Amino acid sequence: MKQVFTGISELFTPKERLEQAALAVQDGRFVWVGTESSLPDDYRSWPRTDLGGRGVVPGLVDAHTHLVYGGERLAEYLQRARGENYEAILAAGGGIYATVRATDAASEEELYELARARAHIFLAQGVTTLEIKSGYGLLPEAELKMLRVIRRLGETLPQRIFPTLLAHVVPQGWEREKYVQMFTDELIPEVARTGLAEAVDVFCDQGAFTLEETRAILEAALVHGLRVKLHAEQLAHTGATRLAAELGALSADHLEQATPEDWQALAQSGTVGTVLPGAAVILRKPFPNARAMWDAGVKVVIASDHNPGSSPLFSPWLAMQLTMSLGNLSAEEALLAHSENAALALGRKDLGKIAVGARADFVVVASAHALEALYRWGHLPIHSVFVAGAPAL
Ligand SMILES: [Zn+2]
Repeated sequence: MKQVFTGISELFTPKERLEQAALAVQDGRFVWVGTESSLPDDYRSWPRTDLGGRGVVPGLVDAHTHLVYGGERLAEYLQRARGENYEAILAAGGGIYATVRATDAASEEELYELARARAHIFLAQGVTTLEIKSGYGLLPEAELKMLRVIRRLGETLPQRIFPTLLAHVVPQGWEREKYVQMFTDELIPEVARTGLAEAVDVFCDQGAFTLEETRAILEAALVHGLRVKLHAEQLAHTGATRLAAELGALSADHLEQATPEDWQALAQSGTVGTVLPGAAVILRKPFPNARAMWDAGVKVVIASDHNPGSSPLFSPWLAMQLTMSLGNLSAEEALLAHSENAALALGRKDLGKIAVGARADFVVVASAHALEALYRWGHLPIHSVFVAGAPAL
């Protein structure tokens, strides 16, 4: 399937900016990118789509979501807005545990339908790749149920889906040691055998897993050929970022409490640093210092952390805007952090960018100025979204 796209007033690759650009796509990948006037003759005879003088950016990559869950936590959101504390609600058996109960009560079909509707909201805003974590099952069969829902989403949605097994919290009534052992000796081997996840993530924090438990789980994942990621330094400073760097993790995510030494470790290892503006702002935590991380050489990523508790955030554009305003990134940097850099958090160099050889996922902005989508707050000018060169909406 061959196609040329013209009529692009402004294009961000995202590292480069082109005016009056054109794209050639063959079999779902970009085969040529440049200015329209320099389009080689070979491509001029291909079927052509004129994008009408609009801006284009790469398909966005959301590299950290908890999109599959039952129920919602509006009551908890209102409690927290009155000043109650997230850690105290979790310790009292609410928070994540409330979602675990609601997820357990839902059938696979219900979980699939709920997540499909949420994924569509992201697609309509240009998110063409979604990482989705398990972690609201806790017990082995319940985690596998979540991962089966994620697999089905991958098979049926227009978006590309990256499945991750998450060790979230120790289930109530379990001994910690036994739970970690079940995770390393049963669940991880089963997930690796069935191919239900590409990576394993651990919520390493106060109220969740200790650094030692996290190391045991991630080392088991590596032994079984899975990639690793971490929820690191969100509520307390645990040393998880340096563990992520040491183990060659894809990403260390959150980083509200991360230190300059942690940023150095990330910069040196190549593990990307993911900031999750929704959780930081909604829980009223310090905003991660995205500017200082970027300047220290960290590949900074922005993600939604969409979940029913700490981050009921549906908007990649709001996530970028918050990181511009509170993390001091430029608009161009924020776009890079939600596209090309974000793909690296999934180990993918062929997503999140408009370049020869990359997957032809892109967003057409309903404006001649591609970054108008970052300028308008709360009103999104999206014209259309393409996945593998085909309209996805
Ligand atoms: Zn998360």
